[in-house]
Amino acid sequence: MKDEHRLLIALQDLDIMIKEVKDKVTSRELQSLGFKLTGLNELQDARDKLAKKVPRALLQRYEKLTQHYTVAILPVTGSLCLGCFVKLPTSFFSAVSRNELQTCENCGRLLYIP
Ligand SMILES: [Zn+2]
Repeated sequence: MKDEHRLLIALQDLDIMIKEVKDKVTSRELQSLGFKLTGLNELQDARDKLAKKVPRALLQRYEKLTQHYTVAILPVTGSLCLGCFVKLPTSFFSAVSRNELQTCENCGRLLYIP
C-alpha cells in the first residue's frame, strides 16, 4: 500500500475520534461520568498535520465522501464493499492493483486491498 493511502486511513481514524469527542450526546455522557474533554485540541492538531501530508486531490475526494459517510475509506474483505455491502464485480478484482485505491461503483467509497 502507498504511504499516502496509509496517511489517509490514519486521518480517517483521527476524524472518527474527533467526531466522537464532538458528538454532543457522547460528550454529555463523558462529562457526566467525570471525564474532561481534553485532548480535542491535540487531536485537531494531529489531524491538521496529517492532512497536510495527504495529496490534495486525494484529500478533497476523501472530504467530499465524509460529508455523507463516517467511513470513507475501507478495506475490501471477501468480495463485498463493507460500506454498502454490495458485491463487487469480478472485473473489480482483475483490475485491482494493490497499489491503487478503487472506488465502489455503488456508494463511491474508496476501497483498498489490505
Ligand atoms: Zn460500496
